[in-house]
Amino acid sequence: MAETKYIFVTGGVVSSLGKGIVAASLGKLLQTRGYKVTIQKFDPYINIDPGTLNPYEHGECYVTEDGRETDLDLGHYERFLNIPTSKANNITTGRIYQNVINKERKGDFLGKTVQVVPHITDEIKRNIKILGKTGKYDFVITEIGGTVGDIESLPYIESVRQLRWELGKNCLCIHLTYVPYIAAAKEVKTKPTQHSVKLLQEQGIQPNILVLRTEKELSKAICRKVALFCNVDEDAVIQSYDVPSIYEVPMILAEQGMDKIILQKMDLPVTGTLDLTRWKEFLNNMKTATETVTIGLVGKYVELPDAYKSINESLFQAATYHRRKLDLRYIHSEKLTEKNAGELLSGLDGILIAPGFGQRGIEGKFVALKYAREHNIPTFGVCLGMQCMVIEYARNVLGLADANSTEMDSHTPHKIIDLMEEQKNLTVMGGSMRLGAYECQVTKDSKAYAAYQSERIKERHRHRYELNNEYKDLLEKNGMQCTGINPDTGLIEIVEVPALTWYLGTQFHPEYNSTVVNPNPLFLSFIQAAIDQQNKK
Ligand code: GLN
Repeated sequence: MAETKYIFVTGGVVSSLGKGIVAASLGKLLQTRGYKVTIQKFDPYINIDPGTLNPYEHGECYVTEDGRETDLDLGHYERFLNIPTSKANNITTGRIYQNVINKERKGDFLGKTVQVVPHITDEIKRNIKILGKTGKYDFVITEIGGTVGDIESLPYIESVRQLRWELGKNCLCIHLTYVPYIAAAKEVKTKPTQHSVKLLQEQGIQPNILVLRTEKELSKAICRKVALFCNVDEDAVIQSYDVPSIYEVPMILAEQGMDKIILQKMDLPVTGTLDLTRWKEFLNNMKTATETVTIGLVGKYVELPDAYKSINESLFQAATYHRRKLDLRYIHSEKLTEKNAGELLSGLDGILIAPGFGQRGIEGKFVALKYAREHNIPTFGVCLGMQCMVIEYARNVLGLADANSTEMDSHTPHKIIDLMEEQKNLTVMGGSMRLGAYECQVTKDSKAYAAYQSERIKERHRHRYELNNEYKDLLEKNGMQCTGINPDTGLIEIVEVPALTWYLGTQFHPEYNSTVVNPNPLFLSFIQAAIDQQNKK
């Protein structure tokens, strides 16, 4: 396609409507028609990136291959589109201002007064177009974080207004709103949608398409009413009613012809077929699965499932692939003790020890690991989970009672997990971890190799500490093998205990690259081991 088309997705009424899922679903449909699509997110907060945010603030921090800490919606984009995102796919207000202020300090504005319009809006527009200018994409879908009417969103909405003017037919705006059901009146209400669209119009944007989030399916009459009040074509009022799984959303949008409507509105021929065969296969597996696989996720953010978004989705994808329902039980690591371990863990087919930072909840992870090891329950340690796996093994198998990570105890005599060399003199916390995809050499005779079927893999990282190589021989002599090594630095990336059925930890985060049509091999292997474990019972 000669010119890149830009689609903007804004949201109104309330947050958490699932703009990211709508953007990802729409991207999927256009991709399935043969177009090259990428999705980016603009977040209106002042942090340079979400890397410094507590998960309670913003859920999981997702990491791109090229090492950017990003919003968790990028995880949805990758899981739906099955193509990697990059640094350019997530921009925050903080980064926009930082760029503008850096230019100002260099004197690039030649004495001008630097203002929100045009300087901030120009920088937003420049960033919106970066991916389009690579020539790699037919469509760039841009999700604007936040809700119309937020003070923070204004410069973004203004930038979209300007771009619409500049890009003409190559630009399209989708607005996502909420249609609540008032139980007392037994009615759905469209007024919040009307107000939200009015607000958008006041800011100079007439949406081309409306997506109405609703609990129940809406009648034609309701959609007609919304169309009339909001100046939108009747067929361009799309509804996104509640479905059991986010992976069904593309089907709902396809049923209403959303992809065709977009192509027509952008003067593009409606060619290519919407071949969602593999997607439907996945949905079919999901719907027809009768048996369950029960996995316990041990972590400290269990009251907030978004904190482990990619892990949840990877487990779900792998279980679905194996035609199982996933029964995911969150086990609060702060509440797990030697005393209640049997009660909380014995019924599980597999245990995943979550990533994380800091001391809080760490003891519960050791309890879970000891129990899993002694009862030979398939266990998967991810990042901090892997580090805990090694510490527990050192304490209870190697007899190094004080073994610890220097993150938790800087004076431990056995620094089995220690700060990486390049981390030692760092003072800046933002964006300074070991981030992004690194190569890993996998030992042939290992569970990891059996899963990946490859000796060379690449997985994404986000950590400051590493397994101390000085303990490698001792661990290996005592049954914990280091089966994945970074070929350039010698850092240990995978550990396994071959004497156990499936006891494996990774310093990297395999959950970041697991997608619907391509579940991560380690998750597939872990779930298979959990199913085998269940069959043995
Ligand atoms: N806190 C550990 C480190 O920095 C692990 C990080 C993680 O689990 N992502 O090395």
